[in-house]
Amino acid sequence: MVFSLVIIGAGPAGISMAVEAVNVGVLPEKILILEKAPEHSYTIKKYYPDQKKVTANYKGFKSVCTGVLCLADSSKHETISYLDQAVGTHNLTLHYNETVHQIAREQEDGTFTVRTSGGEYETKLVVIAIGIFGRPNKPEYPLPGALSKKILFDVTSTEIKNSSVLVVGGGDSASEYCQYLYQLGNTMHLSYRKNDFSRMNDINKESIMAMAMRGEVKLLLNSTITAIKDVNGVLEVRFNEEVYGVQTFDYIVYALGGSTPENFLKLLGIEFEGTQPIVKPGYETSVPGMFLVGDLSAGTKGGSINWAFNSTNTAIKRICENYLRSDSQVAKPSLSTTLL
Ligand SMILES: Cc1cc2nc3c(=O)[nH]c(=O)nc-3n(C[C@H](O)[C@H](O)[C@H](O)COP(=O)(O)OP(=O)(O)OC[C@H]3O[C@@H](n4cnc5c(N)ncnc54)[C@H](O)[C@@H]3O)c2cc1C
Repeated sequence: MVFSLVIIGAGPAGISMAVEAVNVGVLPEKILILEKAPEHSYTIKKYYPDQKKVTANYKGFKSVCTGVLCLADSSKHETISYLDQAVGTHNLTLHYNETVHQIAREQEDGTFTVRTSGGEYETKLVVIAIGIFGRPNKPEYPLPGALSKKILFDVTSTEIKNSSVLVVGGGDSASEYCQYLYQLGNTMHLSYRKNDFSRMNDINKESIMAMAMRGEVKLLLNSTITAIKDVNGVLEVRFNEEVYGVQTFDYIVYALGGSTPENFLKLLGIEFEGTQPIVKPGYETSVPGMFLVGDLSAGTKGGSINWAFNSTNTAIKRICENYLRSDSQVAKPSLSTTLL
């Protein structure tokens, strides 16, 4: 069978893309979502602290929704169950634990062949929705391999309690990690290379400043880490600034964001300008019929959940204009929509 749409990645953007397609009449059985993790919305499950407040206006994006899905301020649990419901009510098909190796256009009619660790699928259109957290950003200095269990890039994979923790970063995640880890009885320090948290939203900025005032977190502003050493199993952090000197911690948690998976996208034939993929209106790439949505369409600033939802509504409009045909004989044209 040839799918109408194969979507790579089952986060907010991938799920929303399928919902938008069903909404314009593409049959759910003609849509396939391939996810490399064992469950959907893996970024949210892995990187969000459990008690996190999920804000609709994340990174200053207005919480305006243009498509079918829309997120109000919620908890982590509510956000995941909203996405669960979207999958269930639209009868979406997801294949988990499938990593895409290759997407090739080998047939004369332009059909794509998507090859994964679990099989081979033919499709008219491909939407890439793999986000930017497949490989979180890492510092430039080397990290001691022997202490890799104490150097983390999220706060859910290891339980950190009653320890001395250094969070590194200056965005919303850095503030949220400090708030979360403090509640677990940890002694918190936050290292940021600037002297002002201009990238944080107001709530997170106020929270971290209030924590600092109460002595719940020690702020190491204008600080630059030059090296991390393994000293008899303890993490020794060397700062460039004399005032911070050399300090030891039980754990370091990096909150440095993620970046575009450049190699993977280039392998698919997508052209780049600098570090960013070239996208045409509707987030179509330089490969006709191949789209990028969600965080991948948001540029260097990164996106939000509602941004991801909205990007798929923009993409489906382009798909409708250029790739869909509906049968005008049928009273409900959306139900008879087929891909050209
Ligand atoms: C700590 C943190 C806090 C945040 N807080 C908020 C908030 O409060 N409000 C808000 O709106 N936004 C928040 N965001 C941002 C929001 O999570 C992202 O903008 C959103 O998840 C982007 O959705 P996406 O579907 O594009 O990518 P992702 O959510 O990253 O989903 C990508 C999916 O693709 C899968 N995948 C990756 N590579 C492959 C591959 N090769 N093959 C198959 N599948 C693959 C992943 O496993 C994942 O399930 C936060 C982000 C972080 C990290």
